[in-house]
Amino acid sequence: MPQHYRDIPVPPRVNRLPHTRGGMPVPWTTPWTSGEERIIHHPTTGPTITCDCTLGEGSPRFGEQCPLRQRRAMLERRCGVCGTPIKPTSTCVFTGCTPQAHVAEPPTHPRCLAFAMRVCPRLVDLHDRAFVFICREYDLGERRAVKVQEAPSDEPQPVSVWFPLGDPQAHLGVLDFYMAVPRPLQLVPAPEWLTGRAPALR
Ligand SMILES: [Zn+2]
Ligand SMILES: [Zn+2]
Repeated sequence: MPQHYRDIPVPPRVNRLPHTRGGMPVPWTTPWTSGEERIIHHPTTGPTITCDCTLGEGSPRFGEQCPLRQRRAMLERRCGVCGTPIKPTSTCVFTGCTPQAHVAEPPTHPRCLAFAMRVCPRLVDLHDRAFVFICREYDLGERRAVKVQEAPSDEPQPVSVWFPLGDPQAHLGVLDFYMAVPRPLQLVPAPEWLTGRAPALR
């Protein structure tokens, strides 16, 4: 069970985010119903999914990521929970459900992740099988949707494919998210990180 967010001190950076009507802070990368996603042709990234939602307007769509803010967080080393930059000299942490070293959730401040892992129902559900990736830096790749046809009679199906950041070949597919490869990689099971290594919240 998630702990109630009122029982845990909210890190000040997280408290500045828009809140739900119930008073829970909404992560910076969560999309809002005030906007819609659509495909544009971007001068640099080619076919790209964009989104025009406004933070705090409409209702939050928990469990999803706004493609625009996800990519901005990855490119600018911003925390996916609070949205503020993570200093180049500070540790950043990622979460993922497999020990594979490429992740679609942006980097976070350790304190912001410790808060989110205690109160966010989705993260609490994943708790026992999630990992925390601890690193100083990370490399980026592009996740692109391309259509693949297995046999001449089949309908083409969208499949996600990885490309190195900036690869012109990538323009064959539609960009939705950037992926991070943390380095140097230190991998810790989430429960162990939360009990033994996460910063104290009080
Ligand atoms: Zn959006
Ligand atoms: Zn943060």
